[in-house]
Amino acid sequence: MDLGYTADEEAFRQEVRDWLDHNLPDEWRHKGVGGFREEEETDLQRQWQRRLHEAGWLKLAWPKEAGGRDATPVMQAIYSEEMAKAGAPIILGRLGVSLLAPTLLVSGSQWQKDTYVDRILSGELIFCQGFSEPDAGSDLAGLRARAERKDGHWVLNGQKTWSSGAHYADKSFLLARTDSDAEAHKGISFFLVDMHQPGVEVRRIKQMTGGGEFCEIFLSGAVVEDRDVVGEPGAGWKIAMTVFGFERGGLAQAARFERAVMELAGLARDRGAGADVTVRQKVAQAQIEAHVFRLISLRSLTSAQHGQAPGPEASLTKLYWSEMDKRIQDTAVGVQGPYGALAPGSHFAIEDGRWQYGWMWAQAETIYAGSSEIQRNIIAERVLGLPRGR
Ligand SMILES: Cc1cc2nc3c(=O)[nH]c(=O)nc-3n(C[C@H](O)[C@H](O)[C@H](O)COP(=O)(O)OP(=O)(O)OC[C@H]3O[C@@H](n4cnc5c(N)ncnc54)[C@H](O)[C@@H]3O)c2cc1C
Repeated sequence: MDLGYTADEEAFRQEVRDWLDHNLPDEWRHKGVGGFREEEETDLQRQWQRRLHEAGWLKLAWPKEAGGRDATPVMQAIYSEEMAKAGAPIILGRLGVSLLAPTLLVSGSQWQKDTYVDRILSGELIFCQGFSEPDAGSDLAGLRARAERKDGHWVLNGQKTWSSGAHYADKSFLLARTDSDAEAHKGISFFLVDMHQPGVEVRRIKQMTGGGEFCEIFLSGAVVEDRDVVGEPGAGWKIAMTVFGFERGGLAQAARFERAVMELAGLARDRGAGADVTVRQKVAQAQIEAHVFRLISLRSLTSAQHGQAPGPEASLTKLYWSEMDKRIQDTAVGVQGPYGALAPGSHFAIEDGRWQYGWMWAQAETIYAGSSEIQRNIIAERVLGLPRGR
């Protein structure tokens, strides 16, 4: 593992910082980064996305022929880390930008690339992800939504769930079964579905955080044209795996947790809990874990820099940060004593109840992008070589 940065990489870091100094207004910092004010901040996230797109940052990793900068994994990590450190908003169309656009570059038709990619990056078209179903989450291959050929189109029926941001999405990248006789992983196709059509109904799911950014999608006769099938019909599983390959954590996450631990220490001090030895130990433990996470991220980055595709060790990273965050949030709620029970935004809540919100949100982190149990299965079987469970 190489922990140093080259002069070029340091110069690139300075370029990102300078750009942020000139383009990220102070009043936008630490806004729109997720949280219980999310709903009020979607406009800000859309504006920020447009600004990043116009400056070419959203194509950083793309090949030069496609208008990108061909950035190395280290440059991408530096970019994400500086964005996180500056408290830059997250972008509204993050699923389209980080998952679908690169997938279309690899697997899409020329028409799909020409029609969608720039509009995804600019934020003109917001996509949501329609993979999970009520009985198909970890076992995604068990999905039952189906698409049939009728009058020269595909007609979709079924239900999707947990679709983040579907209530403001213009389109969805969605998996549906096109051959029910084929084996589970086969006979699935990858569709780009217009969300503003009569056969699509979106219902928001009320969450324990008070928010409602996840939705159910009901498909009843929704129509998709052939040109909106990505890859060949029946090749949807392979394309979905390409999508999963673009789900990453990394140094931006490390910066996020280092900041969280500093804030946690400040909270403990302000609440007078610093005198309690168990609190001090938990804060110290959190600091150690955040540092270990940075080292794990640097190890993954070093492998990526050497051209190695993310392997099953990626499960270790996901398991580590999501479980670590639960512990950090737990300590933060605990040090508040009875105030820790106040709902986010309520009158006497400390720091507007943001730690309580973080505690609730952290529960979701060990579920999405592969639950902790699934990650442990992968680590056991594919990293440690233990026998497969039943
Ligand atoms: C914040 C968030 C955002 C999401 N956004 C989207 C989105 O935009 N689009 C989308 O399509 N989906 C989305 N999801 C859904 C997510 O992909 C699923 O929640 C996830 O795949 C788990 O599936 P499930 O909820 O059906 O749980 P299940 O798969 O039913 O699992 C239930 C429990 O059983 C355990 N379990 C399951 N199988 C095994 C096994 N083989 N061995 C051991 N334990 C097992 C799980 O770990 C879990 O504890 C989101 C979820 C969350 C939390």
